[in-house]
Amino acid sequence: MGDNMNGYFNERIKIIKGDITKVKVDAIVNAANNTLLGGGGVDGAIHKAGGKDILKECKSLGGCPTGEAKITTAGKLPSKYVIHTVGPIYKGGNNKERDLLKRAYENSLKLAVKNNLKTIAFPSISTGVYSYPINKASEIAIETTVNFLENNHSIKKVIFVLFSNRDYRIYKGKLDEKFND
Ligand code: ADP
Repeated sequence: MGDNMNGYFNERIKIIKGDITKVKVDAIVNAANNTLLGGGGVDGAIHKAGGKDILKECKSLGGCPTGEAKITTAGKLPSKYVIHTVGPIYKGGNNKERDLLKRAYENSLKLAVKNNLKTIAFPSISTGVYSYPINKASEIAIETTVNFLENNHSIKKVIFVLFSNRDYRIYKGKLDEKFND
């Protein structure tokens, strides 16, 4: 990527360390499971902080296939919406994990565009209970987002919210690597 693109993406992609339930954006993304009926990790934190209304809406959605995304309102959260996506469970890497993880990011971004949302925050999808190696997963997350933003001009900001220092450093490293900072 040419040097002149650095500033452009620096404005549109941010990496922060924190709790995604506290982030005020148009939509936060939930790393959900196929049932959309709640789980542990970031999913549990979102339902706990957002209240029962989110689960109520989720119950009417009939689940979500891996790699796809569905949207609900955000209950008591500071964001306006929650985009629920389902990343792959990592089973060694030869089970379409890469493609499914890419599609989870892409379909979340597409759904944001479709709903006219401008700012979106992602957790590190699949790298918790679903055990996707974070080095690979962070590369897919950033690559997919950069490619998407190259062809889309309506989304103003994508924020990756990492829960641990280690995860934060890995994502930051990948983004810096990509733009030779
Ligand atoms: P998955 O099942 O897709 O692996 P998890 O929720 O188990 O999803 O983990 C995804 C990532 O979300 C992990 O890196 C985990 O540390 C992180 N996480 C957990 N709680 C939060 C939170 N409140 N905000 C942001 N990230 C979180």
